[in-house]
Amino acid sequence: MSLLSVQNLAVFYGPSQALFDVSLSVEAGEAVALMGRNGMGKTTTIKAVCGLVPLADGTVRFAGRDIARLPAHKAARLGLGLVPEGRRCFPNLTVEENLLAAARPGAWDLARVSALFPRLAERRAQMAATLSGGEQQMLAIARALMTNPRLLILDEATEGLAPVVRREIWAVIARLRQETGLAILLVDKSLAELRQVADRAVILQKGRDVWSGRFDALDTATSERLIGV
Ligand code: ATP
Repeated sequence: MSLLSVQNLAVFYGPSQALFDVSLSVEAGEAVALMGRNGMGKTTTIKAVCGLVPLADGTVRFAGRDIARLPAHKAARLGLGLVPEGRRCFPNLTVEENLLAAARPGAWDLARVSALFPRLAERRAQMAATLSGGEQQMLAIARALMTNPRLLILDEATEGLAPVVRREIWAVIARLRQETGLAILLVDKSLAELRQVADRAVILQKGRDVWSGRFDALDTATSERLIGV
Protein backbone atom coordinates (compact mmCIF):
# COMPACT_ATOMS: atom_id res chain seq x y z
CA MET A 1 0.00 0.00 0.00
CA SER A 2 1.38 3.41 -0.98
CA LEU A 3 1.80 6.09 1.68
CA LEU A 4 0.09 8.56 -0.67
CA SER A 5 -2.08 7.44 -3.53
CA VAL A 6 -3.77 10.04 -5.72
CA GLN A 7 -6.05 8.88 -8.47
CA ASN A 8 -7.90 10.56 -11.32
CA LEU A 9 -7.99 14.06 -9.81
CA ALA A 10 -10.10 16.72 -11.46
CA VAL A 11 -10.02 20.29 -10.10
CA PHE A 12 -11.75 23.41 -11.39
CA TYR A 13 -11.24 27.08 -10.64
CA GLY A 14 -14.68 28.43 -11.48
CA PRO A 15 -15.46 27.32 -15.02
CA SER A 16 -11.86 26.53 -15.96
CA GLN A 17 -10.45 23.06 -15.37
CA ALA A 18 -6.93 23.02 -13.91
CA LEU A 19 -6.43 19.25 -13.40
CA PHE A 20 -7.58 16.39 -15.63
CA ASP A 21 -7.31 12.82 -14.43
CA VAL A 22 -4.07 13.32 -12.45
CA SER A 23 -2.70 10.24 -10.66
CA LEU A 24 0.47 9.79 -8.65
CA SER A 25 1.77 7.90 -5.65
CA VAL A 26 4.51 8.17 -3.04
CA GLU A 27 5.74 5.08 -1.20
CA ALA A 28 7.02 5.18 2.38
CA GLY A 29 10.67 6.24 2.32
CA GLU A 30 10.47 7.54 -1.24
CA ALA A 31 11.08 11.00 -2.69
CA VAL A 32 9.01 11.93 -5.73
CA ALA A 33 9.50 15.07 -7.82
CA LEU A 34 6.45 16.75 -9.34
CA MET A 35 7.60 18.74 -12.34
CA GLY A 36 6.32 20.77 -15.26
CA ARG A 37 6.49 24.24 -16.76
CA ASN A 38 4.76 27.26 -15.20
CA GLY A 39 1.01 26.97 -14.82
CA MET A 40 0.81 23.24 -15.59
CA GLY A 41 -0.95 22.34 -12.33
CA LYS A 42 1.80 21.42 -9.83
CA THR A 43 0.63 23.68 -7.00
CA THR A 44 -3.01 22.78 -7.68
CA THR A 45 -2.12 19.09 -7.34
CA ILE A 46 -0.39 19.76 -4.00
CA LYS A 47 -3.38 21.81 -2.81
CA ALA A 48 -5.75 19.02 -3.83
CA VAL A 49 -3.70 16.48 -1.85
CA CYS A 50 -3.71 18.72 1.23
CA GLY A 51 -7.42 19.57 1.12
CA LEU A 52 -6.87 23.19 0.11
CA VAL A 53 -8.96 23.09 -3.09
CA PRO A 54 -12.17 21.11 -3.65
CA LEU A 55 -12.02 18.03 -5.87
CA ALA A 56 -14.50 17.70 -8.70
CA ASP A 57 -13.44 14.08 -9.06
CA GLY A 58 -10.80 11.61 -7.92
CA THR A 59 -9.49 9.97 -4.76
CA VAL A 60 -6.70 10.81 -2.33
CA ARG A 61 -5.60 8.10 0.08
CA PHE A 62 -2.96 8.75 2.72
CA ALA A 63 -1.66 6.06 5.07
CA GLY A 64 -4.64 3.92 4.15
CA ARG A 65 -7.28 6.61 4.75
CA ASP A 66 -9.48 8.43 2.29
CA ILE A 67 -8.58 12.10 2.82
CA ALA A 68 -10.10 13.51 -0.38
CA ARG A 69 -12.73 15.56 1.36
CA LEU A 70 -10.95 16.14 4.66
CA PRO A 71 -10.27 19.77 5.65
CA ALA A 72 -6.62 20.79 5.47
CA HIS A 73 -6.01 20.94 9.23
CA LYS A 74 -7.26 17.38 9.66
CA ALA A 75 -5.11 16.10 6.77
CA ALA A 76 -2.14 17.83 8.42
CA ARG A 77 -2.89 16.06 11.70
CA LEU A 78 -2.68 12.71 9.90
CA GLY A 79 0.90 13.50 8.91
CA LEU A 80 0.97 15.67 5.78
CA GLY A 81 3.66 18.29 6.38
CA LEU A 82 3.21 21.02 3.76
CA VAL A 83 5.78 23.72 3.07
CA PRO A 84 3.66 25.94 0.84
CA GLU A 85 4.85 28.14 -2.00
CA GLY A 86 5.76 31.51 -0.53
CA ARG A 87 7.07 30.07 2.78
CA ARG A 88 4.43 31.33 5.18
CA CYS A 89 5.56 31.84 8.77
CA PHE A 90 4.14 34.06 11.52
CA PRO A 91 6.10 37.30 10.94
CA ASN A 92 5.55 38.73 14.43
CA LEU A 93 6.58 35.61 16.31
CA THR A 94 10.18 34.70 16.99
CA VAL A 95 11.86 31.80 15.25
CA GLU A 96 11.44 29.66 18.36
CA GLU A 97 7.78 30.66 18.81
CA ASN A 98 7.11 29.77 15.17
CA LEU A 99 8.66 26.35 15.72
CA LEU A 100 6.88 25.65 18.99
CA ALA A 101 3.52 26.71 17.55
CA ALA A 102 3.85 23.92 14.98
CA ALA A 103 5.14 21.23 17.36
CA ARG A 104 3.50 17.85 17.66
CA PRO A 105 4.90 14.86 19.52
CA GLY A 106 7.54 12.77 17.76
CA ALA A 107 11.21 12.51 16.97
CA TRP A 108 11.45 16.05 15.58
CA ASP A 109 11.76 18.63 18.34
CA LEU A 110 13.50 21.96 18.86
CA ALA A 111 16.89 20.36 19.47
CA ARG A 112 16.80 18.15 16.38
CA VAL A 113 15.53 20.91 14.10
CA SER A 114 18.21 23.26 15.48
CA ALA A 115 20.89 20.70 14.64
CA LEU A 116 19.62 20.51 11.05
CA PHE A 117 19.39 24.32 10.75
CA PRO A 118 22.16 25.87 12.90
CA ARG A 119 21.37 29.29 11.41
CA LEU A 120 17.86 29.15 12.82
CA ALA A 121 19.23 28.15 16.19
CA GLU A 122 21.44 31.26 16.14
CA ARG A 123 18.38 33.40 15.36
CA ARG A 124 15.93 31.70 17.70
CA ALA A 125 14.97 34.94 19.52
CA GLN A 126 14.62 37.00 16.32
CA MET A 127 11.22 37.88 14.79
CA ALA A 128 10.54 35.79 11.68
CA ALA A 129 9.86 39.00 9.71
CA THR A 130 13.52 40.03 10.13
CA LEU A 131 14.92 36.84 8.57
CA SER A 132 16.33 36.71 5.05
CA GLY A 133 14.32 34.91 2.35
CA GLY A 134 16.53 31.85 2.66
CA GLU A 135 16.22 31.78 6.44
CA GLN A 136 12.44 32.10 6.17
CA GLN A 137 12.44 29.12 3.82
CA MET A 138 14.49 27.16 6.32
CA LEU A 139 12.03 28.16 9.04
CA ALA A 140 9.11 27.00 6.88
CA ILE A 141 10.77 23.58 6.40
CA ALA A 142 11.68 23.40 10.09
CA ARG A 143 8.07 24.20 11.06
CA ALA A 144 6.81 21.38 8.84
CA LEU A 145 9.31 18.97 10.46
CA MET A 146 8.14 20.05 13.94
CA THR A 147 4.72 18.61 13.05
CA ASN A 148 6.47 15.22 12.73
CA PRO A 149 5.02 14.49 9.29
CA ARG A 150 4.95 11.12 7.58
CA LEU A 151 5.15 12.90 4.23
CA LEU A 152 6.92 16.23 3.72
CA ILE A 153 5.58 18.23 0.78
CA LEU A 154 7.81 21.01 -0.53
CA ASP A 155 6.32 23.43 -3.07
CA GLU A 156 9.12 25.35 -4.82
CA ALA A 157 11.37 25.41 -1.76
CA THR A 158 14.23 27.11 -3.59
CA GLU A 159 12.32 29.56 -5.76
CA GLY A 160 13.59 33.12 -5.77
CA LEU A 161 16.60 32.38 -3.57
CA ALA A 162 20.26 33.19 -4.25
CA PRO A 163 22.31 30.26 -5.63
CA VAL A 164 24.29 29.84 -2.40
CA VAL A 165 21.09 29.62 -0.34
CA ARG A 166 19.52 27.24 -2.85
CA ARG A 167 22.52 24.94 -2.42
CA GLU A 168 22.04 25.05 1.35
CA ILE A 169 18.37 24.08 1.05
CA TRP A 170 19.19 21.22 -1.35
CA ALA A 171 21.87 20.01 1.05
CA VAL A 172 19.30 19.92 3.87
CA ILE A 173 16.85 17.96 1.69
CA ALA A 174 19.62 15.51 0.77
CA ARG A 175 20.50 15.08 4.47
CA LEU A 176 16.85 14.45 5.33
CA ARG A 177 16.77 11.74 2.68
CA GLN A 178 20.01 10.09 3.75
CA GLU A 179 19.60 10.34 7.50
CA THR A 180 15.88 9.82 8.00
CA GLY A 181 14.42 8.29 4.83
CA LEU A 182 11.46 10.66 5.27
CA ALA A 183 9.01 10.41 2.34
CA ILE A 184 9.01 13.65 0.35
CA LEU A 185 6.92 15.06 -2.50
CA LEU A 186 8.85 17.91 -4.08
CA VAL A 187 7.73 20.51 -6.58
CA ASP A 188 10.66 22.22 -8.24
CA LYS A 189 12.06 23.16 -11.61
CA SER A 190 15.75 22.35 -11.03
CA LEU A 191 16.16 19.03 -12.78
CA ALA A 192 19.83 18.67 -11.87
CA GLU A 193 19.16 19.00 -8.13
CA LEU A 194 15.98 16.91 -8.18
CA ARG A 195 17.89 14.07 -9.82
CA GLN A 196 20.23 14.03 -6.82
CA VAL A 197 17.53 13.68 -4.16
CA ALA A 198 14.41 12.20 -5.76
CA ASP A 199 13.78 8.60 -6.78
CA ARG A 200 11.12 9.28 -9.38
CA ALA A 201 9.49 12.10 -11.31
CA VAL A 202 5.93 12.84 -12.36
CA ILE A 203 5.58 15.49 -15.05
CA LEU A 204 2.45 17.55 -15.60
CA GLN A 205 1.49 19.26 -18.81
CA LYS A 206 -1.67 21.35 -19.10
CA GLY A 207 -3.15 19.75 -15.99
CA ARG A 208 -2.45 16.13 -17.00
CA ASP A 209 0.24 13.69 -15.83
CA VAL A 210 2.00 13.02 -19.10
CA TRP A 211 5.17 11.25 -17.91
CA SER A 212 6.21 9.35 -14.83
CA GLY A 213 9.17 7.15 -14.08
CA ARG A 214 12.66 6.98 -12.67
CA PHE A 215 15.04 9.82 -13.48
CA ASP A 216 17.41 7.53 -15.37
CA ALA A 217 14.56 6.87 -17.82
CA LEU A 218 14.01 10.61 -18.43
CA ASP A 219 15.91 11.44 -21.63
CA THR A 220 17.03 14.89 -22.69
CA ALA A 221 14.48 15.25 -25.49
CA THR A 222 11.59 14.47 -23.11
CA SER A 223 12.83 16.80 -20.38
CA GLU A 224 13.36 19.61 -22.91
CA ARG A 225 9.88 19.10 -24.31
CA LEU A 226 8.05 18.81 -20.99
CA ILE A 227 10.08 20.86 -18.52
CA GLY A 228 12.09 23.14 -20.78
CA VAL A 229 15.55 22.07 -19.55
P1 ATP B 1 3.88 27.54 -11.31
O1 ATP B 1 5.08 26.72 -11.63
O2 ATP B 1 3.83 28.80 -12.10
O3 ATP B 1 3.66 27.75 -9.83
P2 ATP B 1 1.94 25.36 -11.41
O4 ATP B 1 2.37 24.25 -12.30
O5 ATP B 1 2.09 25.19 -9.95
O6 ATP B 1 2.61 26.72 -11.87
P3 ATP B 1 -0.82 25.96 -10.84
O7 ATP B 1 -0.48 27.12 -9.97
O8 ATP B 1 -1.35 24.73 -10.24
O9 ATP B 1 0.41 25.61 -11.77
O10 ATP B 1 -1.88 26.48 -11.93
C1 ATP B 1 -2.54 25.60 -12.84
C2 ATP B 1 -3.57 26.40 -13.64
O11 ATP B 1 -4.62 26.84 -12.77
C3 ATP B 1 -3.01 27.64 -14.30
O12 ATP B 1 -3.64 27.80 -15.55
C4 ATP B 1 -3.40 28.75 -13.35
O13 ATP B 1 -3.58 29.96 -14.05
C5 ATP B 1 -4.74 28.25 -12.81
N1 ATP B 1 -4.97 28.73 -11.43
C6 ATP B 1 -4.18 28.52 -10.36
N2 ATP B 1 -4.72 29.07 -9.25
C7 ATP B 1 -5.88 29.65 -9.63
C8 ATP B 1 -6.92 30.37 -8.95
N3 ATP B 1 -6.86 30.60 -7.63
N4 ATP B 1 -7.97 30.81 -9.69
C9 ATP B 1 -8.04 30.57 -11.03
N5 ATP B 1 -7.12 29.89 -11.73
C10 ATP B 1 -6.05 29.43 -11.05
